[in-house]
Amino acid sequence: MKFSKFFMPTTKEAPKDATLPSHQYLIRGGFIAQTGAGIYDFMPLGKIVLEKIRAIVKEEMDNAGANEVQLGFVTPLSLWEESGRSNTMGHEMLRFKDRKNSDFVLSPTNEEAVVNMVKNRITSYKDLPVHLYQINTKFRDEARPRFGLMRGREFLMKDGYSFHSSEEDLIREFNLMEATYKKIYTKLGLEFRVVNADSGAIGGSGSKEFHVLANSGEDTIVVCDSCDYGANIEAAVRKANKKEKLPTIPLEKVETPNQKSIEEVNSFLGTDSYYSMKAVIKKAIYEDKTKIAVFFVRGCDELEETKAVNAVGAIDLEDASEDEIEKAGLVAGYCGILNITSNVLVVVDSELEGENNLVIGANEENYHYKGFDLTTLENVVYKDLVAVQEGDICACCGGKLSYTKGIEAGHIFQLGTKYSAAMNANFLDENGKAKPFVMGCYGIGVSRLVAAVIEQNHDEKGCIWTKETAPFMVDIIVSNSKKEEEAQIGEKIYNELKASGVETILDDRINARFGFKMSDFELIGFPFAVVIGKRLEDGMVEIVNRKTLEKFEIEVENVTKKIV
Ligand code: ATP
Ligand code: MG
Ligand code: MG
Ligand code: MG
Repeated sequence: MKFSKFFMPTTKEAPKDATLPSHQYLIRGGFIAQTGAGIYDFMPLGKIVLEKIRAIVKEEMDNAGANEVQLGFVTPLSLWEESGRSNTMGHEMLRFKDRKNSDFVLSPTNEEAVVNMVKNRITSYKDLPVHLYQINTKFRDEARPRFGLMRGREFLMKDGYSFHSSEEDLIREFNLMEATYKKIYTKLGLEFRVVNADSGAIGGSGSKEFHVLANSGEDTIVVCDSCDYGANIEAAVRKANKKEKLPTIPLEKVETPNQKSIEEVNSFLGTDSYYSMKAVIKKAIYEDKTKIAVFFVRGCDELEETKAVNAVGAIDLEDASEDEIEKAGLVAGYCGILNITSNVLVVVDSELEGENNLVIGANEENYHYKGFDLTTLENVVYKDLVAVQEGDICACCGGKLSYTKGIEAGHIFQLGTKYSAAMNANFLDENGKAKPFVMGCYGIGVSRLVAAVIEQNHDEKGCIWTKETAPFMVDIIVSNSKKEEEAQIGEKIYNELKASGVETILDDRINARFGFKMSDFELIGFPFAVVIGKRLEDGMVEIVNRKTLEKFEIEVENVTKKIV
């Protein structure tokens, strides 16, 4: 490929809302273009990277014996009514009507559609197991689409669904998928951790997440320094909540907790909320130090959480009035509200002493409570989280636990019979008895991975693609394309590298100056540049390593040998 023929609109400007390096560089490097909130087009460079990741995912899924299919992006709502999820998916699922007034959804995930595909087509245990997967567009009407490809509304996911005649066989496949995912992330050149996870709206029993380690990650994971143990703190929170089995308190009947006495607050809160609440505080703190979510956690499930978010109208508390903050305090006493961008931290804690046990902080510097600052709070939370985790670790060697940030790049679930039973999808077992399929499901955020690679591999100049994800391996920079000899040598090296199977791009732009070409190289992040410039007089060119920015000179005739 040649720059002169390639649509690669690089720019110095990053969008104002782009806080993450991946978001800034993907836009500045001309990889993607935003068309709406959480909706992105992939331009040629972005499309190449996306396809590379897709190909690796496909290769490993095929190696593991899964079959690629393609399910409709649009699914009739009737399927979601069959499974019962039409009532529980909340606002993330975008619904619409066609001209005949029939209801449809833009697929946020595809359990129902795949059960529908297999139902009545596989009827005997003899035809099991089967694993079907697709790499296809998803739409989730995220409350806060942000961070570019990291949390889009339209995004590309690999979603696989397996069907089994027994739990044991499901566990075999689940383990195979864990191994397959590890191969995929390793091949992509990523540092990652596998952690125990919460199953969220997908449901089922066991689930594991795959986290790409990066400071910008939205999730907090706890990991052991001496063994493979890891868990998402969401899982710890849920676990504690489930144990509590608290009654649901109708929203309208709840009064603002700080108007109550300590005894009343304690009875309102119950006494065992300590750990789970602390876990949420920890999450809130790590979410973003300057933008802390309003939250409180009371045995809430996904639906209650959504209800609570809706109750405050998902107000942006950054600009909230006193009234709105008061209202948020009210809801905060009811159940968890996570991920609301806010400078307000509301902590209702039955364990804090004194009457100021409702804590409202305007921002990090300005807290209206006694005796605690963020660091102290964080330490308290840290200690207690370890306590939560300890209840959860037989699997751990007992080593030191620590917290780190992760980007959820994949999630695998043991679904069991949740969907097959609800949708009456059965097979006949050895004894001729009808049984619902035992199912697993397995997701990878393919487009999120494009951003995750950059979050883990960048510097202040731009992206540094890993070997397997780089759009081109080598960028041949002709310093001055008006100089015939430079242009010719550029072309020669370009042809040689291409003939040797190296993915190469030639910067042959006539009117672009050397500095401009070099900064495009650094911004886009090709692993190597071959710079053809002044030293050509002595038959020398320069090879630049994008990661280390180290340069060395080499004879023209040795370039290909060196790179291949
Ligand atoms: P998150 O916690 O980040 O909202 P999730 O748990 O809702 O993700 P899953 O239902 O587990 O997501 O979907 C499988 C995978 O799809 C996730 O592990 C993630 O990599 C990817 N994914 C989910 N939501 C988005 C999104 N809004 N934008 C890009 N990728 C996403
Ligand atoms: Mg989600
Ligand atoms: Mg998640
Ligand atoms: Mg998930």
